[in-house]
Amino acid sequence: MSQSSKQTISQGLWQDKVVLITGASAGIGEALSRTFAQQGAKVAVTARRLDRLEALANELTEQGYEALALACDVTQRTSVEACVQKVIDQWGRLDVMVANAGFGVAGPLARLTAEDYQRQFDTNVFGVIHSLKVALPHLKETQGRAIIVGSVNAYVSLAHNSAYAMSKFAVRALAQSLWIEWARYGVAVTLVNPGFVESEIRKVNNQGVYKEDAKDFVPQWLMMPAQKAAQQITKGCFKRKREVIITGHGKVIVFLARLFPKLTFHLLKRAKKT
Ligand code: NAP
Repeated sequence: MSQSSKQTISQGLWQDKVVLITGASAGIGEALSRTFAQQGAKVAVTARRLDRLEALANELTEQGYEALALACDVTQRTSVEACVQKVIDQWGRLDVMVANAGFGVAGPLARLTAEDYQRQFDTNVFGVIHSLKVALPHLKETQGRAIIVGSVNAYVSLAHNSAYAMSKFAVRALAQSLWIEWARYGVAVTLVNPGFVESEIRKVNNQGVYKEDAKDFVPQWLMMPAQKAAQQITKGCFKRKREVIITGHGKVIVFLARLFPKLTFHLLKRAKKT
């Protein structure tokens, strides 16, 4: 197949499909919004910062794509319900729900409070549960798909990383159950586990607030561009893959964690606090 015909297929991959993305105001979610739109989907871009979403939706609309910006806080089920309803009112269907919104609480158990863990779970776990539960009746109708954005930390937990890793272990467990539970509805669930991807996540503090002047501790060379990650995610979702692991280092870590857990533990013990 020629390069150009491959590109045409990829451009029309999601033609006339409706996709709702949570956490679309930055990073992976923003990149996914662009990629789904470029591949033909109508995209509802959602998050809490509406100004950013409106700028993104305007940009996509000016490029000839269909996009809708909606304020949504995934920790509030009613907020997710209102969003999904607006998508149904606008386009009459939902084909893909992307449960991507998330952030990281960092620090050792000794220093964190129970409220820190609660806040982490409210977004990274209950935000995913709200998103999927609200979407399910519509996904059943379209025999659609859901994406859960986990992390390589769904397999390995580092020092100072327990709150975040716990939340990602939890959504991995959720995905594994849904692979079986939702198969009977014809709804596919793709768990996406990224390693380091370019985004704002490492500049967001434990309260979930973005700090522009914070330093990203990950060296640039180790990070995958968000747009490249988004291409791999939409492709895996289209193929109804159960799991997509993003980045070479992510694949190595998951491989080691699965097959050589003791070795992985000893390697991780040496890892510096992140
Ligand atoms: P990011 O650039 O910080 O983007 C996070 C997005 O989540 C933002 O759009 C943010 O928007 C949204 N969000 C946070 N809390 C929310 C809430 N309560 N309700 C609705 N939206 C909320 O981070 P990212 O790296 O793209 O993160 C996306 C997902 O990838 C997360 O689940 C993260 O855990 C996962 N991940 C990322 C990496 C990486 O290296 N980038 C690695 C592994 C996993 P608002 O603040 O506007 O609401």
